[in-house]
Amino acid sequence: MNDCLFCKIAGKKIPSMIVRETDEWVAFRDINPQAPTHVLVVPRKHVATVNDLDPATAGMLVEAGKSIAREEGLAERGYRLVLNCNAEAGQTVFHVHLHLLGGRTMKWPPG
Ligand code: 5GP
Ligand code: ZN
Repeated sequence: MNDCLFCKIAGKKIPSMIVRETDEWVAFRDINPQAPTHVLVVPRKHVATVNDLDPATAGMLVEAGKSIAREEGLAERGYRLVLNCNAEAGQTVFHVHLHLLGGRTMKWPPG
């Protein structure tokens, strides 16, 4: 997608703080972090929302989030993986992305 922000970040047309990348996904730090660790994991292929997400890609994003959580020292402390889908959930970028949040105590229910 030519005018998709996260396609541009994944393609390095827009700079970001990349944490790790593979042929299938890119993980980079959120520009407006909501926790000491706030990483976004995106598939390289454009998928708009969770409603369009296939099981293999969903699993891949979770595995990536788990792996980066471990690297960031969060595996035992705890962390949150979030997928916001569409307007009421607060999705603002319509290229599916897994939020990895950690490094502080999280509240429930989320806002
Ligand atoms: P959503 O609300 O769609 O689930 O999350 C979108 C996330 O993308 C937000 O947390 C926002 O801070 C982040 N974001 C928006 N624009 C950029 C950007 O240009 N670079 C980076 N690294 N993150 C961004
Ligand atoms: Zn995209």
